Amino acid sequence: MTLEVLFAGGPDRWASYRTPLAMALAEAGVDARLADSAEDPERVEVIVYTPGSGPRDFTPYTRLRAVMGLWAGVERIVGNPTLKVPLTRMVDPAMTEGMREYVVGHVLRHHLGLDLDLARQDGVWRQRHVALARERRVGVLGLGALGRAAATALAQLGFSVSGWSRTPRDLPGLSCRHGEAGLAEVLDGAEILVTLLPHTPDTEGLLDARRLARLPAGAVIVNPGRGALIDDDALLAALDSGHLAHATLDVFRTEPLPPDHPFWSHPRVTVTPHIASETRPDTASRVIAENLRRLAAGEPLLHLVDRQRGY
Ligand code: NAP
Repeated sequence: MTLEVLFAGGPDRWASYRTPLAMALAEAGVDARLADSAEDPERVEVIVYTPGSGPRDFTPYTRLRAVMGLWAGVERIVGNPTLKVPLTRMVDPAMTEGMREYVVGHVLRHHLGLDLDLARQDGVWRQRHVALARERRVGVLGLGALGRAAATALAQLGFSVSGWSRTPRDLPGLSCRHGEAGLAEVLDGAEILVTLLPHTPDTEGLLDARRLARLPAGAVIVNPGRGALIDDDALLAALDSGHLAHATLDVFRTEPLPPDHPFWSHPRVTVTPHIASETRPDTASRVIAENLRRLAAGEPLLHLVDRQRGY
């Protein structure tokens, strides 16, 4: 039976996904009809979804069997009461590669103090001690597909890496913690803190004034996770007081970040415009095709979202 698949990612994404998705379906031997609009929602069995472009009301899709997200984060769909079928999120190997590179790059910038050298090209020969990675303690909040890859790459460079997750994890080369006490331990030791948690009711505003105060004086935050993980006012206060030396932020409570937001002009903040890592059509198409194959074969889907947990 031919699967009826609606690609609801918007016209630009359809242009870049149309061919790789068709190729991936052929490679996976999946019999599916792909379309970027549904004249008859009652025929649609699967929606390939992105927030912003995808439907907000799934009620008209009476034959729907699954929604397959193209984004890793699902906070904008997970609580949708009209969605009654399984929801999968994107775990894309190329997105993981991109995130690993973003995190390693920004951690190395702060670890090596690259800004100090680049900012003062003034003819003064200021030699300084540059610490080795193994002398630097990095905390990584979130040890999922992305956090684990970034933390492992940092550990392979020699950094002393502590990671934090909801459930206990045992990952080679990393010191893994969980629970409130585990979070306190990770924060206490994190000279550089990377946040790769999903936005859920449990992680909303996790880094508040109390928890930011636990970080060692002069610590740096790198947040490619979600803006809502951090209390913006508490972060600005910690930066203003000098307790935190810098924050590199890729994600924000409001995106695009409004032009008058204090993050733009703060001397201790680096803003990147949600570009840490994107889903890549070639690799993501294979993930979608594999899940369509599984759906057709009655096998369990990959990367299912737990709607109760929120990620
Ligand atoms: P994931 O595989 O679902 O991993 C999430 C991790 O967070 C897991 O280790 C999980 O713990 C942990 N976690 C969740 N809730 C927690 C809680 N309440 N307390 C402690 N730990 C908790 O997600 P992922 O693929 O790594 O992606 C992480 C996030 O990155 C996404 O949700 C998205 O927000 C963000 N992202 C950003 C970009 C960008 O370009 N900036 C790109 C892609 C993704 P367990 O291991 O115990 O489950």
